[in-house]
Amino acid sequence: MTTFSRYRGRFAPTPSGPLHFGSLVAALGSYLDARAAGGQWLVRIEDIDPPRCPPGTDTTILRQLEAFGLHWDGAVVWQSARGDAYQSALERLREQGLTYPCSCSRKQWQGHDVYPGWCRDGPGEPGKPIAWRLRSDLGQRPIAWPDRLFGEQRFDPADLGDVVLKRKDGLWAYQLAVVVDDGDQHISDIVRGVDLLDNTPWQVQLQTALGYPVPRYLHLPLVMSPDGQKLSKQNLAPALASEPAAIARQLFQAIETLDQAPPAELDGAAPAEQLAWAVAHWRVERVTPAAERPILSAHREEN
Ligand code: GLU
Repeated sequence: MTTFSRYRGRFAPTPSGPLHFGSLVAALGSYLDARAAGGQWLVRIEDIDPPRCPPGTDTTILRQLEAFGLHWDGAVVWQSARGDAYQSALERLREQGLTYPCSCSRKQWQGHDVYPGWCRDGPGEPGKPIAWRLRSDLGQRPIAWPDRLFGEQRFDPADLGDVVLKRKDGLWAYQLAVVVDDGDQHISDIVRGVDLLDNTPWQVQLQTALGYPVPRYLHLPLVMSPDGQKLSKQNLAPALASEPAAIARQLFQAIETLDQAPPAELDGAAPAEQLAWAVAHWRVERVTPAAERPILSAHREEN
């Protein structure tokens, strides 16, 4: 495993809606970790699924980050412009026998927890539209890594299934795009919500196959709504504030949500002042993992 000479972090929102309080906390966590390490912090817009991304939402997100004082380094990257890089990565995987075309529909394998790999030796129904799947059973197994908050992790990617890398409709899937972009952008540290923790084994498998070094991982607890649901666009998480006094209040709450115990006087201070304090005092160990071993996410099955 190659080590990185410098810290480079990133925030990688999917522009399916404006940022909400939960995504602000994820952005803030990755920003603070990067700045506290004297590192760079990049923003990448993960707009590979146009039907899910209303036009203009990317701009809204970038304005929101700026309003909260979360200024990024370098140029923003849009995944919608990166198709050639994903195609060449898919070809490299194909040459290694690590991806295969699959004609199965989700309906055909309902009742199974994960896709059972029926098309591994060739598409079951040649001539039908195909998705490209990862051979999760080949390559490095199990995948183990130390999460900086949740501790030692160990998964057999084969138990997670042969995830889709390119969809039947020709769109790129998250797992491949995120690995190629993190690799090409030399991201050393991935800080994101714990709902992506069990996606990490596929990503490490892909990094290894494509020759990218494996970054360090820090998964952050999710912000829950009072009824115990993950805050999300779907359950109408509270919108982010847009006027200065409310922004200052919400930023303070976000720092508190990361268990950094900001002093009360900081409440309502200008974002730059709050962030300067939070960078200087950032301690990952303060963040309380909601559970020792989180209850994990959907496996982003895309078809
Ligand atoms: N784009 C993904 C999301 O908004 C996050 C990707 C990542 O941080 O790896 O859920």
